[in-house]
This record gives sequence, structure tokens and C-alpha cells, in this order.
Amino acid sequence: ALTAGIVGLPNVGKSTLFNAITQAGAEAANYPFATIDPNVGVVEVPDVRLDKLTELVVPKKTVPTTFEFTDIAGIVKGASKGEGLGNKFLSNIRQVDAICHVVRCFADDNITHVSGKVNPIDDIETINLELILADLESVEKRITRVEKLAKQKDKDAINEYEVLVKLKEAFEKEIPARAVELTEDQLKMVKGFQLLTIKPILYVANIGEDDIASTEENEYVKMVREFAKNENAEVVVICAKIEEEIAELDAEEKAAFLEELGIEESGLDQLIRKSYYLLGLATYFTAGVQEVRAWTFKKGMKAPQCAGIIHSDFEKGFIRAETVSYDDLMEYGSMNAAKEAGKVRLEGKEYVVQDGDIMHFRFNV
Ligand code: GDP
Repeated sequence: ALTAGIVGLPNVGKSTLFNAITQAGAEAANYPFATIDPNVGVVEVPDVRLDKLTELVVPKKTVPTTFEFTDIAGIVKGASKGEGLGNKFLSNIRQVDAICHVVRCFADDNITHVSGKVNPIDDIETINLELILADLESVEKRITRVEKLAKQKDKDAINEYEVLVKLKEAFEKEIPARAVELTEDQLKMVKGFQLLTIKPILYVANIGEDDIASTEENEYVKMVREFAKNENAEVVVICAKIEEEIAELDAEEKAAFLEELGIEESGLDQLIRKSYYLLGLATYFTAGVQEVRAWTFKKGMKAPQCAGIIHSDFEKGFIRAETVSYDDLMEYGSMNAAKEAGKVRLEGKEYVVQDGDIMHFRFNV
């Protein structure tokens, strides 16, 4: 499964957030596999469509889809120099598919900030710099290797050399790979380089409890938003401390608490949703009287592959998929009505499944 790694400098609220994540997971359901690795937290992906489908179908049970966060340990500063825990930090980041970078946007004199004062941009740049330096090293190594081949007029090597130099120049200016303009072909090539700064990133602005009702007035949040805009990165504003409390509540209590706070969706739910879409994930549903269920797939996957997520036999023996979009089903109010209106399609092997599709697979055993 794809996973998003939580990183941040010490004392920014990472553990508090990760605690909220594992709590929320434990509270929501029983995920036995979640306990295997203490650094992985499994959460349910919040989705109102699943609630609506449940109301419509009234199944015996409803199963949401899940998403994994990984807590990234290790020392940040000096990590690129490759010593012990710093090395571990980088190799842990290499293994995740996206980065959730927690930055401190709360002022609390009782909690020491590693660099003496709260400045989220400094925090962001400190970590980004370590990642950029590590990437610079990878790119330099590669350059040494392909340079010779490029000089021998090897076409692939020439193309690769060109990209590598472009990246190197960016890294030297402290620009991450994700902000470098690349052609589609170049991007494909770069994916093979295993760079850290090409991974999609989401900045998590951790604000204080007092700012929760007026998040956009927080000066630090404004700074983070401005920074992220220039990098084409996303921002989620949360209060990790409050999320920790929310994570212990059941659904009803949670709704009441959010209303009291004057917010529509908890910060953690936003974080889950945004991380999910940042990774290019999407959801399709199966809806029967026994079970209504959400399934995660990668955007671009075709119907047989999506069927294979449920069971490999579904993929092997795939015949067709009876498919209706969520919006159509809701508009017509029932599967039968949608069918009568011609909104239920019989899709074949080449059908690219869409986010929100409700699917019924037909297959040979
Ligand atoms: P980590 O080192 O990044 O894992 O940070 P921790 O999660 O351990 O948090 C460091 C300190 O900041 C702890 O004392 C937390 O209780 C506190 N903290 C975390 N989030 C918040 C917050 O939103 N508001 C306030 N006031 N304190 C927080």
C-alpha cells in the first residue's frame, strides 16, 4: 500500500499528530495489521459518499477504505552528511510515497523550539535542505557514470545527462526536484533516480488551540501558504493537540465537538483526504445488501485491475463490470431507477475506472 511519511523538526508536534492518527485508527476499527509496525498508523478514509450509499442501500455492514501514515524517525539536521540516525532518516523517507511535513505554527513559551524561535519557513528550509543535499549527491554520482557514455554520443546517455545537469543546477540553488520544470519524458526518467525531493509534499501547519476557529489569521499559517504556493505544494492546517482529543471520541461525540469548535471537518480528516489524493489514489465502491464498501485504487487503473484489488480471481476471470457513477445513482435514487434511465453501463477490460464509480464485477471462476 502507498504510504505518506510524517516528518518534521523536533518539538513541532509530530508525535502528537501521529498519536492522533493511531488513536483514530484504533477507535474506528480493528486493524490487526496496524500493530505489526509501530511506525505505521492506519486510518479510515473519511468519505461522505460512503455514508450516503449506506443510507441508500441499508447494508448489513459498511466498510471504509484505509490509508497508512508512517512516522519517520531519525535526526534531521546534518542527515545528508550520512551519519547514523541521519542516514536512517533519509532511507526512511526514500521508502514513503509522499511527505507530510509538520511545521510549528503555535507559540508556546514552555515548549522549546530547536532554533530558538518559531519560524515555520526556517523549519521547512532546514529539512528541505537536507533532502536537497542528499539528492545533489545522488545526481552527482549519476553524472559521473553517464558522462562518459554521453561523450560517446549514446543517445539515452545524452538525454539523461541533460536532465541530471538541470537537476544539479536546481539543487545548487536549493530548489527541490518537484519544482523543476521537466518534460513528460524527463519526468519518467527522473522517477528512476529515486530522488527525495521529487516526492509530492504536503505542509502540515500545526497551530495552537486558541487559533482553531480562525486559522487563516495565524501569521505563521500565512507564511506557510505563501511558501507552499511557490512550490505547488498543498497545506493542511491542524491543531495536533485537539486532534489527539478528537481521535478518542466516537462519531457522534466528534460531530458535536466539531460543531462546538465551529469547524466542518477535523484537521486530521483533511490531512487524510489530501494525502490520499496527493498520492493519486481514488475510491470506487461496491454496494450490496450484505456490504457497502469503499476500495482504493490508483487513478488510471482499468476495470480488471480494480477487480483484482478485491480478489485476484476477479481479475483473472474478469468479464465485465456493471458500473454507475455516484452522482447518477444519487440522482436516480436507486440502482433500478438508474438502470431504467440507462445510467448503468456494462464496461469491459479497457474501461478506466473513475473516482466514485459503483461497480459490480462479473467474472468466470
Ligand atoms: P515532536 O518532537 O515533533 O514529536 O513534538 P511533540 O508531538 O512531542 O510535541 C512537542 C510539544 O509540543 C509537546 O509538549 C506537545 O504537547 C506540544 N504540542 C504539540 N502540538 C501542540 C499544539 O497544537 N498546541 C500546543 N500548545 N502544544 C502542542
